[in-house]
Amino acid sequence: MATQTILVAEDDAAVRDLVAHHLEREGFAVIGVSDGHGALRRARGAADLLILDIGLPGVSGFDVVRTLRREERSVPIVVLTARCDEIDRVLGFELGADDYIAKPFSARELVARVKCILRRSGRTVPQAGPLLRFGRLEIDASAREARVDGADVKLKPREFALLMELAGNAGVALSRDWLLQRVWGFDFSGDERTIDVHVHRLRAKIEEPWKLPPLLLTVHGFGYKFARG
Ligand code: CA
Repeated sequence: MATQTILVAEDDAAVRDLVAHHLEREGFAVIGVSDGHGALRRARGAADLLILDIGLPGVSGFDVVRTLRREERSVPIVVLTARCDEIDRVLGFELGADDYIAKPFSARELVARVKCILRRSGRTVPQAGPLLRFGRLEIDASAREARVDGADVKLKPREFALLMELAGNAGVALSRDWLLQRVWGFDFSGDERTIDVHVHRLRAKIEEPWKLPPLLLTVHGFGYKFARG
């Protein structure tokens, strides 16, 4: 089961650590940041949910939400607010946060809200991964196997992860940058050609030996798209 990553933007280290502790205990991966710039930078990556303090140094929490929504990023956001009078702004505003929690708060309640929002937003990963079928190709997420005509195709972990990301979003053009962040992670410092190399290998392992119609389609100047079945 893929680990979900929660970004916690809070300048109070004690609060941040407490929240991180409770989330990690529930099996989430946590990235902590202490200012608004860090929150923005990280939230543009592959976080599954953002817990955001309003009173952040640098860029305020309000501006972080506004900026992310203006960029049409759909990452769910739970706002932490210290003052009751901010709640009206958080909710009434054109702000686009998904939920708020007033300080002082119970970490258990926060974790419960996080889970609820992830469920609601369809970001929870099912216990058993999907079985995707594209003609003669079958991708079994639970077993982490790809099969053509029932025969196992040997893929390296990154190759499989890239295949899952593309096939799981069949018909959607995914940018190289997005794929890098989803498959290689935030801190990958290589360049986008890495994606091309891996797509090339996937084609050589899946499409070519079995003479399948093209599945991994190039979207010129952008990235890749998996052919819809
Ligand atoms: Ca603060």
